[in-house]
Amino acid sequence: MNTAEGKWEKRWHPLREEWVVYAAHRNTRPWHGAPKVSSQPMPEYDPACYLCPGNKRVNDKINPAYSGIFIFENDLPVVSFNAPRVPSNHSTTLYRRASATGIARVICYDPRHNVTLAQMKFEKVLQVFKAFRQEIEALSKTPGISYVHIFENKGQAVGVSNPHPHCQLYATDFVFKYAEDQIRIAEKYRHRHQRNLYDDILQQEQADGLRIIAENNHAISFIPFFARYAYETFIFPKKPHQSLLSVDDAELEGLAKAFHETVRKMDMNFQTDFPYVMSIMQAPLVNGPYPEFRMHLWLQPPYRQPGLIKYLAGPEIGGGNFMADTMPEDKAAELRAINANHYPFEK
Ligand SMILES: [Zn+2]
Repeated sequence: MNTAEGKWEKRWHPLREEWVVYAAHRNTRPWHGAPKVSSQPMPEYDPACYLCPGNKRVNDKINPAYSGIFIFENDLPVVSFNAPRVPSNHSTTLYRRASATGIARVICYDPRHNVTLAQMKFEKVLQVFKAFRQEIEALSKTPGISYVHIFENKGQAVGVSNPHPHCQLYATDFVFKYAEDQIRIAEKYRHRHQRNLYDDILQQEQADGLRIIAENNHAISFIPFFARYAYETFIFPKKPHQSLLSVDDAELEGLAKAFHETVRKMDMNFQTDFPYVMSIMQAPLVNGPYPEFRMHLWLQPPYRQPGLIKYLAGPEIGGGNFMADTMPEDKAAELRAINANHYPFEK
């Protein structure tokens, strides 16, 4: 691990009050090169894919001949319990350094190289959601873990070079910023209004009804009133939960259904594999409970129309506020009008 020394650590950002993880030792990570432009349909098995069953990964590890979901520790992790230790005298009060401690896992949804969650049969999607819950259950008992961030980057538009259906999990000794911010803001809202912020958002969305995309007995999917991306979507269980830990089987099924319906509608709307960044927003595993927080799924698709990506630029990157090009009500109406039962690409 000596080669990683000084190139693999966390640094505190004093202007944003958040950690930045540096993993500059990973420059050897597999890169498939520029995405291939091909009209050929993708094969179900790709001998060059490091996620397909039976194939070799970096460090000569061989994937098992898996048939369902396959979860493994990332071979080139961003965070790890093996990250170099950073002595405390390497920090000043202002410039703090710490070890990039944690666990990084890859969750392959399916052995088939050429399917997406949207295309998979619902039964398989539900198995994926059960795997998410099992992971958080196991990690909630793992010492040294404060937060679990499960996220899926889908599509070349968000920089994914390997289309094999998978997501990632970072379990860290710090709490990711968005969850931390939302907890603080929800607590402030409680203090001011004696109400729960998320309950009020759900109530307002249901009362307006203008931005709902999909709904069932247990979950609701909508483009919020305040969406920043054109198709930015929240999917909430209807009952309050701080994390997947307390979501029962029926609720998990409802949540997975609302998600599946939403991503199918997104595919059908543009008649393409619709790219997105999906995050499972959950409360931290430590120093709780967090009764004001509500777990939810958060989809941030980069497209605002076919072939047109919302690039973040001056106002967003430089200023920190979004300038949106579309209205949430219009985008939600588009998706709401689509019948996901007619999804044509099921595999
Ligand atoms: Zn593959």
